[in-house]
Amino acid sequence: MSIVRIAMDGPAGAGKSTIAKRVARELGIDYIDTGAMYRAFALKILRTGTDLKDADALAALLKDTDVDYAGGSIFLDGENVDGLIRTQEVSEMASVSSAVQAVRDKLVAAQQAMGKRKSLVMDGRDIGSKVFPDAELKFYITASSRVRAERRAIDMELAGQPCDVDQIQKEIETRDYRDMHRANSPLVKVADAIEIDTSDASLEESVAEVMGHINSFLSKRG
Ligand code: C5P
Repeated sequence: MSIVRIAMDGPAGAGKSTIAKRVARELGIDYIDTGAMYRAFALKILRTGTDLKDADALAALLKDTDVDYAGGSIFLDGENVDGLIRTQEVSEMASVSSAVQAVRDKLVAAQQAMGKRKSLVMDGRDIGSKVFPDAELKFYITASSRVRAERRAIDMELAGQPCDVDQIQKEIETRDYRDMHRANSPLVKVADAIEIDTSDASLEESVAEVMGHINSFLSKRG
């Protein structure tokens, strides 16, 4: 198979990463979670207490930090931080620090290097618009904020964490707003992206819909 780079963008909690992982497995190609990369760098900011407004300190931190996504895991300076990046504190910091251009410059360059000579499925907010504007296939995966909040609440209940769906929905809408209105690489549905709304679909149905588009692209390409 010649190279196929599949971009999957969309708001938090729409099912992007679950769908992207399944699609990558079915095609036998790599999956890259760019959100995990922004989260890992946010963890580094929190650990070092770096002030985002201090441009020199941030530049030094970026120079001194290595973020890598490999084999389905996220590494910060060589340490596997899979279990440390899904906290509320890291989510908040990632949402703020990912709006800083210097942070994006470093992580986008690393993501572009990953797709140089390899097929992959990459999920994020700016994959179809900035990281791989020439991606062979682009998807925009979305769902209503209510449905996304309800899914998150189920996950939290299963994990034995107390939660309030209305509160989660408000947090999701705040993060969406920040993602869609920031000056640097806002979340947008690019004109050539295929929109998949997962609000009323099961995971299986959404994966089947995405795979249908991919198979039709691959068979046309030959
Ligand atoms: O997708 P996830 O929620 O893990 O992403 C964490 C944060 O990183 C998000 O709040 C989003 O603002 C940011 N992000 C980004 N660009 C990407 C992926 C994630 O700005 N390509």
